[in-house]
Amino acid sequence: MTAAAPPTVPALLEGIRRGDTGFLARAITLMESTREEDRERAASLMEGCLPMQRKSMRVGITGVPGVGKSTFIEALGRLVTGEGKRVAVLAIDPSSSISKGSIMGDKTRMPDLAKNPLAFVRPSPAGENPGGVARHTREAMLLCEAAGFELILIETLGVGQGETAVHGMVDFFLLLQLAGAGDELQGIKRGIMEMADALVINKADGANLPPAEEARQVYQRALQLYPPKENGWRPPALCCSALQQSGMEELWDLIKSYMKTYWDNGYLQARRKEQNSEWFRQSIEAHLTRDFYASKAVRDALDPLMKQVAEERISPFRAAHLLLQAYRQELK
Ligand code: GDP
Repeated sequence: MTAAAPPTVPALLEGIRRGDTGFLARAITLMESTREEDRERAASLMEGCLPMQRKSMRVGITGVPGVGKSTFIEALGRLVTGEGKRVAVLAIDPSSSISKGSIMGDKTRMPDLAKNPLAFVRPSPAGENPGGVARHTREAMLLCEAAGFELILIETLGVGQGETAVHGMVDFFLLLQLAGAGDELQGIKRGIMEMADALVINKADGANLPPAEEARQVYQRALQLYPPKENGWRPPALCCSALQQSGMEELWDLIKSYMKTYWDNGYLQARRKEQNSEWFRQSIEAHLTRDFYASKAVRDALDPLMKQVAEERISPFRAAHLLLQAYRQELK
C-alpha cells in the first residue's frame, strides 16, 4: 500500500474481512476524509461493511484527565486479549484539531496494547465538533466490528459534551472517578452520573485504599437515588487499581454478564436500532450544515450579516432568515 495508490473500496473490504489492521486504519482514514471526492467511496465502504457485522461489545469510558483512563484501558485490554479476544480502542482526541500535537498523544499512551497483535488503538481527531466528539467514531466502530474486534472501547475525556455522544453509541458506559476528601459528589456532573452503567473508583491501592472504599460507598448511595435504568439495571460503584490490575476481573465479569443478560432478552438489539436512527438524524444534520456553509451564497453573505448583527443593525433572527433565503435561492 503506497500513498500514491489508495486501495480501492473492494480491496479495503477484503482487507477488513481478513482482520488486517493496516487496511482497517486506511478505511478509518477514508471515513475521516473531508474531501468531497472521497464521500462516495466512504459511503460504499460503510455499505460493504454492513453485512460483515459481527457480535461485539461496545463500551464507553469517560473520566477527567489524570483519572487513569489509558492505564485502565491497558489493564482491561491485557485481560481481555489474554482470553484470546480482539480489542479495539477508539480514543477521541479533542486537541488534535489544533494541530500543535495532542495532549492525548498517539499510540504511545497505550504502549502495551499498541504492540499487542490482538489489539488495535486508534486516536481520532475530534475536529471542529464541540465537546470533543469525533465525527466519525461511530463509523470507525462499525469498521472495527467488521474486522472482527469483539470488544470496542471508546474513550472520551470527562469534559464537555463528548460523553453524551459516546453514551449514544455504546452498550455499556463506564465512569472512572477518583477518591476525594469527602467531597466526592461535588465536581461531578449530574448528567454524567445518570448515564453511567457502572462507576469505578480507580487508584484504589496503597494508602488510597480506605478513602477509595469510602468514596465507593458514597457513590453507591448516590446512584441508588436514581430510578433504575429503563432496562431495570442498577449501576454499581466499584473500586479498582488499573496500575496493580486489581478489581479488573470483577469489572470485566460485570460487563460480560450485562451484555449477556441484555443481549439475550433483546434489549441491546432494540437499543442499537434506536441509536442507528439517531445516527441517521445526526448524519443528515451534519451533511446539511456542511453543505450550507460550503455554499457560495452563504459564504458571501455570512460575514456582512455577522457584522450587522454585532452592530445591532439587524436581529439575529432576521439575519438567519436572510441567510437561509440566500441559500435556498442558490439551490434553485
Ligand atoms: P488519563 O489521563 O485518564 O489517561 O490517565 P493515565 O492513565 O495517564 O494516568 C494518570 C496517572 O495516574 C499516571 O501517572 C498513572 O500511572 C497513574 N495511575 C493510573 N492508574 C492508577 C492506579 O490504579 N493506581 C495508581 N496509584 N496510579 C494510577
